Amino acid sequence: MNFENSLSFAQQLDSADPLKSYRDQFHIPQVNGKDSYYFTGNSLGLQPKTARSFIEEELKGWETLGVEGHFASNRRPWAEYHKFSKEAISRIVGAKPLEVVSMNNLTVNLHLLMVSFFKPTSTRYKIICEAGAFPSDQYMFETQLKFHNLNPDKALIELKPRAGEHTLRTEDILSKIEETGDELALVLIGGVQYYTGQFFDLKSITEAGHKAGAKVGFDLAHAFGNVPLALHDWGVDFATWCSYKYLNSGPGNVSGIYIHERFANDDSLDRFAGWWGHNESERFLMEKGFKPMAGADGWQLSNVNVIATAAHLASLEIFDKVGISALREKSLKLTGYMEFLINQLSGDDQVFEIITPSNPEERGCQLSIFCHKNGKALFDALTKEGVIADWREPNVIRVAPVPLYNTFEDVFHFARILRENLQNA
Ligand SMILES: *Cc1c(COP(=O)(O)O)cnc(C)c1O
Repeated sequence: MNFENSLSFAQQLDSADPLKSYRDQFHIPQVNGKDSYYFTGNSLGLQPKTARSFIEEELKGWETLGVEGHFASNRRPWAEYHKFSKEAISRIVGAKPLEVVSMNNLTVNLHLLMVSFFKPTSTRYKIICEAGAFPSDQYMFETQLKFHNLNPDKALIELKPRAGEHTLRTEDILSKIEETGDELALVLIGGVQYYTGQFFDLKSITEAGHKAGAKVGFDLAHAFGNVPLALHDWGVDFATWCSYKYLNSGPGNVSGIYIHERFANDDSLDRFAGWWGHNESERFLMEKGFKPMAGADGWQLSNVNVIATAAHLASLEIFDKVGISALREKSLKLTGYMEFLINQLSGDDQVFEIITPSNPEERGCQLSIFCHKNGKALFDALTKEGVIADWREPNVIRVAPVPLYNTFEDVFHFARILRENLQNA
């Protein structure tokens, strides 16, 4: 597509946008008395206006029914609350409803999935992840390896970009997997890297991992609701994500897991169990002996945090209406437009450069702008003028134009404000 650097061009794209009505379904934070330019949907998605009524419905149920709200008298009985998100989630990650469930929080789920899928032996004990993984993931690896009496310096292989490059080449990921071979127990990397915005080739990575005899899982925190996924068809063993980033479900809200159908009734996998994963027809018999539900449900521990999950359902309803492929279509244009405008500005003196891959197939919404000088001053100037972006030490500004509620005009103004403040950089 041929882009133009003008307000009228941006407005033209907005009026031709088939998803333009969705912005009005969200609360846009105000700065200086007007709509902010909100580009942090990769960190905390905006509030759907319907979230309030979904939550109020459950507050009302609690108010009027008390404990009876768990059962059929309620429109969405709390005892079955985890079921109401399954269909929509399965469409977002490309899985069967049996393979997914919403539960716990992301880091908790990473640990639980490690219990089932990381079974080191004296010869096969290594894990491949990306270097500079999100800190929570790094701490998870470190403490899990220590728990298994393994030395993280030896057992954890961190994939680093080649010298002078910012992102990983698929060929390098695949060859490291092949090279590690019989020593490789697990590949667990981000689906979309949180810092660079790189969307990895999950299908090829899964194939290579399996060929080496390892398990393959993904942390989809930055991929869920951002890029199209086909976890089942790719044969991915397991995955987890959070719902408060692109999924707009509210701060700290519920995570979810995916476990491939081939493990749906596999009793040989270890797991840490709780009553909500137990065969639901016997759940209230309160007897000894854990019998897991089939599929992802069998990994649940606790009964559902209903008040919070109500906001998740409100958001999923919107995702289901628009569909991930329509979102992706707009996202490619929206992020492409931002890339076009930023590249025009960067100029010969290279004040900054985009480190996110330029191939749209290798990224989602987010662009990471690496500032060669005075990045923080530039970022602060943007903030003053109503841009909500995020700053990552040592020198990266991350911006995520989100197709559900950002406009081409937002993107135009971001680039305009950046240009007007360049002399400060
Ligand atoms: C956002 C994010 C987290 C956050 O973990 P919580 O348990 O939800 O606090 C973890 N890992 C990655 C890769 C993330 O992007």
